[in-house]
Amino acid sequence: MKKTNESLFTGAGPNTRLAHMGNDPSDYHGFVNPPVVHASTVLFPDAATMEKRAQKYTYGTRSTPTTDALCAAFDELEGSAGTILVPSGLAAISVPFLAYLSAGDHALIVDSVYTPCRNFCNTMLKRLGVSIEYYDPEIGAGIEALIKPNTRLIHTEAPGSNTMEMQDIRAIADAAHRHDCVVTMDNTWATPLYFRPLDFGVDVSIHATTKYPSGHSDIIMGSVSANAKHWPKLEEARIALGICGAPDDSYQILRGLRTMGVRLEHHQKSALDIATWLERRDDVARVLHPALPSFPGHAIWKRDFKGASGVFSFVLKAQGDKAKAKAHAFLDALSFFGLGYSWGGYESLAVPVNLSDRTIRKAPPEGPVIRLQIGLEDVADLKKDLEIGFAAAAEI
Ligand SMILES: *Cc1c(COP(=O)(O)O)cnc(C)c1O
Repeated sequence: MKKTNESLFTGAGPNTRLAHMGNDPSDYHGFVNPPVVHASTVLFPDAATMEKRAQKYTYGTRSTPTTDALCAAFDELEGSAGTILVPSGLAAISVPFLAYLSAGDHALIVDSVYTPCRNFCNTMLKRLGVSIEYYDPEIGAGIEALIKPNTRLIHTEAPGSNTMEMQDIRAIADAAHRHDCVVTMDNTWATPLYFRPLDFGVDVSIHATTKYPSGHSDIIMGSVSANAKHWPKLEEARIALGICGAPDDSYQILRGLRTMGVRLEHHQKSALDIATWLERRDDVARVLHPALPSFPGHAIWKRDFKGASGVFSFVLKAQGDKAKAKAHAFLDALSFFGLGYSWGGYESLAVPVNLSDRTIRKAPPEGPVIRLQIGLEDVADLKKDLEIGFAAAAEI
């Protein structure tokens, strides 16, 4: 049976989709995986075909069987009309912003946004004549009051970076569309397995595929998937800017997607176990995890999301002069948790969170925020590691 047969996926579960989406083995002699095509030049059989570009592949920057397989996989997961591949998760934000915004436009950006996105907005977008306004992540339908005649784009991210605020995506998208604004969403945390933005009215779904799709902390890449209305402009921007996915990286991301479902289940279970355990500790002021009933955005998460991934934060109970030293002592004492940026790999990570860039949502008053990525290690070992961290903090 041809795997490109649409009906194959009707009613199929997420792991079945992950195992069979993207390429069709019968296109390449039955080999299960697509070839890694390294290409610039593609030859044409004659001048007439060349003049009309009348063949599937025309040049390496446009597409190859490898990038096509990955884009098809994302379209299948997101329900999108088209997907572009870009060299990083940050580029997956900046490229659509460049595609949809022009001088004189106004853009609304969620205040709990991934920090480098704020930097892009405050520097290059402002220089290009786009005015930027940050809004409260929990604004919901209230966003309508902030929409001006020149507002063209509303950027969402849920949960928010580091502090995990949830957003009512449907309410925001409905308000945006009444004013003909494009809605973009950074969906990196949930992946399309736990949230499908286009089903909630989002026009353009953004992923740092660096994270869970890669899964092994060894690839930097991004994807942007658009609905039919907004796909032409996105593709146009990709071609105008000369952006394309590298063959080996595209192959590795497709490879990572095959196991993403089972990895996420493990990340989810372990992270929730550790979050619940942390919540009961006296040295923890608060745990910021949308799947915990105590979390303010929990009801939205429960209503809209199918699961939670392995990244969350907690507030260390430590005020006053020693707060920072206690946070550093905690972090320095960890062994299985590495101190490093990014997440989504197989290994656990911890980072001190700096919220000084926020304009609306200020840092929690109870103490320093620490973000954890719970990897695929055994939970008992991770808890032991964290216990050592808390003991070190208590000694300060
Ligand atoms: C990591 C991350 C990005 C950027 O991805 P890079 O590949 O590291 O550039 C974008 N958005 C979110 C929410 C992220 O966590």
